[in-house]
Amino acid sequence: MIDEKNARKLIVEVGRLLYERSYVVASDGNVSIRLDENRILATPPMTCKGRMSEEMLAVTDMDGKPLTDKKASSELPMHLLIYKERPDVKAVCHAHPPHGTAFAVAGLAIDQPILSEVILTLGCVPLTDYGTPSTNELTEAMKPFVANHNALLMANHGAVAYGADLWQAFDRLETLEHTAKIAILSRALGGATNLPKEAIEKLIDIRERAGYLKADARCQACGYLHETGITCDGEHKVSYPTPARKSSANGSKVSLSREELIELLSEVANLG
Ligand SMILES: [Zn+2]
Repeated sequence: MIDEKNARKLIVEVGRLLYERSYVVASDGNVSIRLDENRILATPPMTCKGRMSEEMLAVTDMDGKPLTDKKASSELPMHLLIYKERPDVKAVCHAHPPHGTAFAVAGLAIDQPILSEVILTLGCVPLTDYGTPSTNELTEAMKPFVANHNALLMANHGAVAYGADLWQAFDRLETLEHTAKIAILSRALGGATNLPKEAIEKLIDIRERAGYLKADARCQACGYLHETGITCDGEHKVSYPTPARKSSANGSKVSLSREELIELLSEVANLG
């Protein structure tokens, strides 16, 4: 468990990085650390993350009630939801990184098997339905996805990542943003090539043996998992809301040979 003094220092440092890397502008974003069972250290409202000082941070209880005279960000309920759903999570990082947020604005998840290391360390990033920031619409939309994922996109808003400490949360946010950027750039070069099923199966085996991600990540909302021999066990199974499961493969072309097309059309004609 991190002590409060170091936690304050770390949030200020990560806030500066978020701003310098353009993951946030103006007063966007918010960061928190779980100090212990009952206390959260969080960034204040309406403050640029690049210009925070340690004494600006708020301490609240697990219901968001302030324990000092400093107020926490109005997005704190998003952080509290994640801490409640995931006792293993000790830090949360929310930002609007431009490439990741472009996916969220386009209505796309980051869920294509295009980069081996992303399958190893992060897995899929689902898109959760839009909810008005700082209301329970937002937290309700995120809730089903929190358990099996370590980063989420929020439609027409931004991204959130979380982990065992603040560096892990930040790294996951950075991987999300980097993946989104590469996916967008690859489109300019003719489109990404997905890894084949066998390669995905090997990567999932490695990530579980190395302890990068646990078996519950087999139950993530990614289309490509269903095309492999990887199965999600009952305990971690979640039925994800369908509208939020829009995949970045949506809109991809289907090609049929002339013979296949004729066969399909004649089948349809026979049905009539
Ligand atoms: Zn936001």
